[in-house]
Amino acid sequence: MTKNTLLELHHIIQGAARASSTEEQVQLVVDAISDLIGSDVCSLYQKNANNDMQLIASHGLVKVHPVIIPKDKGLVGLVAQTLNTVNIIDPEEHTNYYYVTDSNEERMHNFCGVPLVFHGEVIGVLVVQSFQAEVLAAEQEALLSTLATHLALLVASLPIEINNAPDANHSHEGFYSKKGISGAPGIAIGKAYLRQSAGLGSVMESHCQNIEEELTQWSELKIIVRSELEGERQVLEATFGENLAAVIDAYQTILEDPSFSGYMNDIIQTEKSFPWALKQTVGYFSDLFKEMEDPYLRARHEDIEHLGEKIYRAWCGSTPVVNDRRSATILVGHQLSVSDIVSLPTEDLVGIVCTAGAALSHISIFANALGIPAVMGVGELALNDGEDLIVDGDSGTVIISPIQAVANEYKGIIESRKDFKRRILADHDLPTVTIDGVRVKLLANSGLQADLQPGLRNGAEGIGLYRTEIPFMIRQSLPSEADQVEVYREVIDTYQDKPVYIRALDIGSDKPLLYLPHVNEENPALGWRGIRFTLDNIQLLLAQFRAIVSAAAGRENVHLLLPMVGSTGELDQCIALLDDALAQLSSEGKTVCRPKLGVMIEVPSSIALLSFWRNKLDFISIGSNDLSQYLLALDRNSPIVGKLYDPLHPAVIHDLQRIVQIATSCQLPVSLCGEMASDPIAVLLLVGMGIRQLSMSTSKLPIIKWLLRASSCSDAEAFLAEALTIDNAQEIRTLGERLLAKAGIKESEYGYK
Ligand code: PEP
Ligand code: MG
Repeated sequence: MTKNTLLELHHIIQGAARASSTEEQVQLVVDAISDLIGSDVCSLYQKNANNDMQLIASHGLVKVHPVIIPKDKGLVGLVAQTLNTVNIIDPEEHTNYYYVTDSNEERMHNFCGVPLVFHGEVIGVLVVQSFQAEVLAAEQEALLSTLATHLALLVASLPIEINNAPDANHSHEGFYSKKGISGAPGIAIGKAYLRQSAGLGSVMESHCQNIEEELTQWSELKIIVRSELEGERQVLEATFGENLAAVIDAYQTILEDPSFSGYMNDIIQTEKSFPWALKQTVGYFSDLFKEMEDPYLRARHEDIEHLGEKIYRAWCGSTPVVNDRRSATILVGHQLSVSDIVSLPTEDLVGIVCTAGAALSHISIFANALGIPAVMGVGELALNDGEDLIVDGDSGTVIISPIQAVANEYKGIIESRKDFKRRILADHDLPTVTIDGVRVKLLANSGLQADLQPGLRNGAEGIGLYRTEIPFMIRQSLPSEADQVEVYREVIDTYQDKPVYIRALDIGSDKPLLYLPHVNEENPALGWRGIRFTLDNIQLLLAQFRAIVSAAAGRENVHLLLPMVGSTGELDQCIALLDDALAQLSSEGKTVCRPKLGVMIEVPSSIALLSFWRNKLDFISIGSNDLSQYLLALDRNSPIVGKLYDPLHPAVIHDLQRIVQIATSCQLPVSLCGEMASDPIAVLLLVGMGIRQLSMSTSKLPIIKWLLRASSCSDAEAFLAEALTIDNAQEIRTLGERLLAKAGIKESEYGYK
């Protein structure tokens, strides 16, 4: 491909990314491809739920009705079936020709179709056609195939049947579903409550009469919005606690930001009206975030847009709406904000649907924390206020006006999950002992003060991993040492005589801290993160060690956990720093007690070093999330290769066993605090290896306790022995499922993993 073509390709993809709906996005793409190839027609077909090919956008074809080509019909079907390019003249003479009535296709005298393939499966077909009876030149055909590889990524992210207007052959029987991204797991049934936007997006350019008046109005509106935000913060704090309420601080910070106000003022000074100045300012700052590479930072453009809508609403003179309906409510909106949650009584909110947004939107972070199913990015929805909805947060699907049979199916799942929950909660006060008498300790992972009490309620025997980066992440600037002491003390005090493992700051890569230096690296997961970052910014680590030691005064059960340690030098620096922190605090007259020190085993190089560290450490905790991703060289959050990530991969199982063997020979207590600790099949393997302490998210404690109380350690050992002879994760999982069934667990009952 020439340099120019590459550039064109880049423009096509970038142009499409800016479209406001999926329909517009695909239309822009086919228009641009037709222009680039110089064809008269460019059509994009997507495989629908029936495996037929549905035309979702066309440049040049007349699309009078939904065009669906049955799966084994037509040249399009041939391309899909053979995965080959079909590049011919006189398509109407081909035995596979399938004429679409009134489409204008009879006027085309060539056909070149290429398959769109994603994860090894055909998901669509891209076709160009022309009036001329000439096959497409080899260079153009190659270009079309190249474009198809890019387009496949776009089409794979689209909801299936985006143009799903009712059609006689493929009726939706009165309801339809749309696919988005899972924002938070679980299933909810309720009535739609539509939150309309204030309409800042449709404000037109206009002038003002008096600049001074406009500026004064801006100052007054700031006061109104500030006080609204303060009110919302109080509601959030009272309902969900300080940590979640701190999300409102993001809006406050933007509102008070001198560059935001300065930009507004500059536009108003050019005699523009307040709404236009606001629209321009919000657009400018939102674009700055949208261009950021980091997905978390990119998602922050929503905060700016939410604030803009809020200011505009105040300008229009409307007061915040409070929903007064008392029934299971599903909040639906374009880009919902935390303020929208405040407008509902929390006990009525059962689900969330965003037509825009991503898994890292603040609203989905909230939904996860609250345990409310959420689906993000479903695209335009034809939906009325009060209409029946099902939110399937496990698969990222929304079902609109479900027919009774479908609703009953979902109700059945919800009921069996509730039943199962009741069964497992009945055991929550009993110790975790297998049926052959082996005791396993179950602790909770935490990072939000809001899940400390729920952990205790679910039977946590301590905090096995306190992720200190979370309290850092939901603030606008670094917490002081005193702030940190307060946070850690609350954790320690809540768990009183139970063990608490506080992990030193683990930021970088997937956990950026907005207000600290951020470097664009080729491979952030292999870069400046965890202990590597904090040892380079040693003042942060010293302040944190001091805070942890101070908060632990008078307690023997506090453990300090170091993330991402991969070399002896790093460990030694941390030990020396801990000595410094203790010496400093003693010389300040404080009574200090050295916390037990351990490392996360998550960087593979630490495994070989473990026996060298036996006298330097009090314990180890396996971080199976990072360890698996590094052993498998797989990013589990990647939309492309994430599905290949499976911690039951034999490479992980064998290395975990090696770690346990080394730790046992060094007499180092070993626990595991990654997601594996809440995967029932993995838990049986871990117990089979001899791990007797697991730490997991609070919501998973009851099921894991129930599982272990219903299983035997000797079965787990036999399972491990067999798993160690197997060369693939799937077979290990199937074997594990048999053990789960023996313990009485069905996957449909406990839901998502
Ligand atoms: C891990 O890597 O397994 C772990 C528990 O740490 P985090 O998920 O916070 O990186
Ligand atoms: Mg980790």
